[in-house]
Amino acid sequence: MKEILERLGITGELSGAGTGTSWLDARGDLLESTSPIDGKTIAKVRCADAGDYETVVKKAVEAFDHWRMVPAPKRGEIVRQIGEALREHKKDLGALVTLENGKIRAEGEGEVQEMIDMADFAVGQSRMLYGFTMHSERPEHRMYEQWHPLGPVGVITAFNFPVAVWAWNAMIALIAGDPVVWKPSSTTPLTAIACMKIAGEVLKENDVPEGVLNIVIGDRQQVGERLINDPRIPLISATGSVNMGRHVAQTVAGRLGKTILELGGNNGIIVTPDADLDLAVRAIVFGAVGTAGQRCTTTRRIILHKNIFQDFSETLVKGYQQVKIGDPLEEGVLMGPLINREAAETMQKAMETLKSQGGKVLYGGEVLSGGIYDKGAYVTPCICEASADMEIVKEETFAPILYLIPYEKTIEEAIEYHNAVPQGLSSAIFSQNLREVEMFLSHRGSDCGIANANIGTSGAEIGGAFGGEKETGGGRESGSDAWKAYMRRQTCTINWSKEMPLAQGIVFDI
Ligand code: NAD
Repeated sequence: MKEILERLGITGELSGAGTGTSWLDARGDLLESTSPIDGKTIAKVRCADAGDYETVVKKAVEAFDHWRMVPAPKRGEIVRQIGEALREHKKDLGALVTLENGKIRAEGEGEVQEMIDMADFAVGQSRMLYGFTMHSERPEHRMYEQWHPLGPVGVITAFNFPVAVWAWNAMIALIAGDPVVWKPSSTTPLTAIACMKIAGEVLKENDVPEGVLNIVIGDRQQVGERLINDPRIPLISATGSVNMGRHVAQTVAGRLGKTILELGGNNGIIVTPDADLDLAVRAIVFGAVGTAGQRCTTTRRIILHKNIFQDFSETLVKGYQQVKIGDPLEEGVLMGPLINREAAETMQKAMETLKSQGGKVLYGGEVLSGGIYDKGAYVTPCICEASADMEIVKEETFAPILYLIPYEKTIEEAIEYHNAVPQGLSSAIFSQNLREVEMFLSHRGSDCGIANANIGTSGAEIGGAFGGEKETGGGRESGSDAWKAYMRRQTCTINWSKEMPLAQGIVFDI
């Protein structure tokens, strides 16, 4: 691991403030990044203070003047090279994601692959920043709309996807002509610094001035609050908990800025008697246990027909029993630790609350001890029996707890239970009955931003617009036309006649 860290430039005391091509002598507090695997310190970061924040944002504002004048396909070419550089470092960077975040190796590398895919996607998009043309109601006039760069974009990311979420935003913002100011989670600063070092080399080779890709690592007062209150940052894209998002939304709205919010999920799957149950079990075990239940798209609720409840829950328990829990760097381990002991305590509390509300733990939920288990927060994933009206099933507990909720009769009833939570990110149905599937995907069905049939809730592809409704915040990122949020729209009318006709038939002669 030492060699990996050296290759990624994660050595000595690192600076938490950078402008892409250079790093500041940051003056904030010293932050230690420890591994959830064994609690050992990986490296130390000198955080940005208020002065460092100011230096970085000034550079970003200056860089905007330059970057917006670089033709979009040329910006795309630089993003292509960033993608190539990430490809070269995929294994090392993936290992660092595992070390700092605790997700298993395949997931760490998968996250880096997502960044590479995002770069590829953005390169193509850089030639497709299309606007409509319209027919004017006035003779000899032309109307069209176009998309211009917006300005520096603030990107706030969560610990659980420490690099991919940055790429969803940054790759698109870059081709759109916007500098990026990244505030990563203080729990996972090293993966962020490593990405910035890799991208920084590409920027240098291309003589991109400093300020196009920036990073500021620091606490709420010195950095977080400054960023969301800063009128020089027209768009804040924030990923994290609902509480954080509510505060960011209100603050940015107070200055009439724009937000993209990617907040908590409480994702449900309906399993009907017509489902292919083998498929459903595999999707649910991966969706609920993968990343130790710490994905925004983690499967948290199964709405299960009462006639298949007993057999299905027994099969699920058998699947859970096969999940190897341990050091996520080791081959064959499917579930690593939770991010910290607080997360394990939150999980225990949720199980207690569930029992006090009449629910039952069917399997798991123990905090493991002995050997490596003593050095981090290792738990067994948990399956519970619950009902749709229990308050606890309406909360996102960021841990591997799965609630099995029986429904009695109809698909309508299952959909009602499914939608009866405040969050609205990802959802799925397992059924081979066309009517049930179509109803779930219709406007009468799932109220989430993502709705799937016969695949699980977890593991969205970057090609689609990613995001959710209700308390999940309504933002959309990565694919489809999500790029539009990073640009400003302008409607233009050109009069090529010798007359001055007014719209709506108004006559205003002078
Ligand atoms: P968190 O809300 O604790 O922190 C997220 C980020 O917000 C961090 O960088 C944090 O420093 C920052 N932040 C907190 N308060 C701030 C403030 N006042 N001003 C500026 N920044 C502030 O979340 P977390 O524990 O890191 O991540 C887990 C949560 O993120 C879960 O709820 C999960 O569902 C959600 N999440 C959502 C998505 C999505 O796309 N919908 C993706 C990943 C994670």
